[in-house]
Amino acid sequence: MAKKKVKERYCPECGEKLKPSDKYCMHCGYSFEERKKSKPKIIPILISIIIFIILWIIVRLLTGKPILPDLSIIGKLFNPAG
Ligand SMILES: [Zn+2]
Repeated sequence: MAKKKVKERYCPECGEKLKPSDKYCMHCGYSFEERKKSKPKIIPILISIIIFIILWIIVRLLTGKPILPDLSIIGKLFNPAG
């Protein structure tokens, strides 16, 4: 008995059964390729930035350091003599 591992796909728009090789739905024209390209990944990036900021603040609070790093080093960079 050979196991057939054919991944069946269904159109998210109309629910029509699609072949794995189909790039778009034959029934309603829903395109998988277009969807991938047009969908911006802004929200996951925003979430990861927010999580990073929260973790940063927590680590800073736990270590007893100020939340913002020492900014005086920036002044030294622009004004090495001073
Ligand atoms: Zn469809």
